[in-house]
Amino acid sequence: MADRVPGSVIHDEIVAAGASWSRAIHKGETLRIVDLEGRQAVDFLCYNADDHDDRYAAADTMKINETGIFLTTGTVLYSVGLTPLMTIVDDSCGRHDTIGGCCSAELNSFRYGVGPQPNCRDNFISELVRHGMTKKDMAANVNFFMYVPVAEDGAMDMGPSISKPGDYVDLRAETDVLAVISNCPQINNPVNDYNPTPIRVTVRRAD
Ligand SMILES: [Zn+2]
Repeated sequence: MADRVPGSVIHDEIVAAGASWSRAIHKGETLRIVDLEGRQAVDFLCYNADDHDDRYAAADTMKINETGIFLTTGTVLYSVGLTPLMTIVDDSCGRHDTIGGCCSAELNSFRYGVGPQPNCRDNFISELVRHGMTKKDMAANVNFFMYVPVAEDGAMDMGPSISKPGDYVDLRAETDVLAVISNCPQINNPVNDYNPTPIRVTVRRAD
């Protein structure tokens, strides 16, 4: 399986449908996230490993990059302190969201009238706790492979997803970072095609 990933792979893991994941990524290493079956939203947070207060800043990332509200190859993920955290160096999907935020039990209840279900906010918090953080350390997140089109009147939609089986995004760490993933468990809207599926994450050594 690892043979399709270029370079020297130091970590290779399948993240189950609906599960969470986190890992320190050292400067120069590249994290690849693979949407194995397609149409799977991957919620993503990133922190400066040396200072967790210096965390991904969605608004500043959108303002600074020419790629605007859609993230793709060339986009640099900036922190609140404008530390370049990670750069998208390759992307077979072409468009990733950073305005839609993550799903939560409260949103599922408000929007869909359902009871407690697995959700990205709970997933994120469970990973943050492992690294000494709390829900106060949550930030607005990236949604890899999630399609959030915005109309001229400002209306935004959630999906349906456009990613294909095997689509991937490569993120090179520009400093030592903590990467946190919620492989979105959402089943009430089309961001996962109503069917959450596994993803693959690999980390490869600096070139
Ligand atoms: Zn979600």
